[in-house]
Amino acid sequence: MLIGSHVSMSAPNFVLGAVKEALSYNANAFMLYSGAPQNTRRRAMEELKIEEAHALMQEHHIPLEHMIVHAPYIINLANTVNPSTYELAVSFLREEIKRVNVLQAKYLVLHPGSHVKAGEELGLASIIKGLDEAMQDMGHVEIALETMAGKGSEIGYTFEQLAYIIEHAKYGNHIKVCLDTCHIHDAGYDVSNFDYILDEFDRIIGLDKLACIHLNDSKNINGARKDRHANIGDGEIGFDSLYKIANNVRVKHVVKILETPYIDGNAPYKEEIEKLNK
Ligand code: FE
Ligand code: FE
Ligand code: ZN
Repeated sequence: MLIGSHVSMSAPNFVLGAVKEALSYNANAFMLYSGAPQNTRRRAMEELKIEEAHALMQEHHIPLEHMIVHAPYIINLANTVNPSTYELAVSFLREEIKRVNVLQAKYLVLHPGSHVKAGEELGLASIIKGLDEAMQDMGHVEIALETMAGKGSEIGYTFEQLAYIIEHAKYGNHIKVCLDTCHIHDAGYDVSNFDYILDEFDRIIGLDKLACIHLNDSKNINGARKDRHANIGDGEIGFDSLYKIANNVRVKHVVKILETPYIDGNAPYKEEIEKLNK
């Protein structure tokens, strides 16, 4: 099973520290933010101990594709109401793609965006325009658009919306999808029948476009459109369904990332990975 969690990348060891954290959970994959998820301040790449991190990954047979980067939440390509928000999103995304290339990670997970009351049609058009502007120099990086819960004015809570973006984006061949189990459950998909979900995903987007899975339980009922993650087995999705997803042969080659909450200040990932691997 290819599984890990989100890990922190903080001073003084940065990416090296992120790899060490992943190893402490017996993970063979991990996801990090290139800096704080809530802001756009970023350290110089030279400070991040990337070479040491790569060496440690190699030593533990973790391929570079198992390092996933998540773009910060403040990137909103769908904002047509405030032009400066859109401009910041495009320029930051362009820089982020460069950083992911330096990290030699393959996938950059991105929330498609929120239309902030301008309507889904305008939001979708803005996302496509923004991706076209930001993705001109991809190197070996691919964008993984995340399936969203549909809270507020989020776009990307249906497979159809994500397929529409990929079909209409100029560089759609460099765009894949990251499927978040909490989000699709909150968006109204019944994840207890995961083979059906995969059939739908294949029919609408194409299974070859599935880049990664965020494996989370949900604090809310199916269709609640809330986006509150729960620990594996402690939420409305439940352990059996999440276990079946983690062990489904059709996604054996796909990296799963846990984004479940800390319990009393402790990371739950080592135990959760163990439970899912049994
Ligand atoms: Fe996300
Ligand atoms: Fe997620
Ligand atoms: Zn979420």
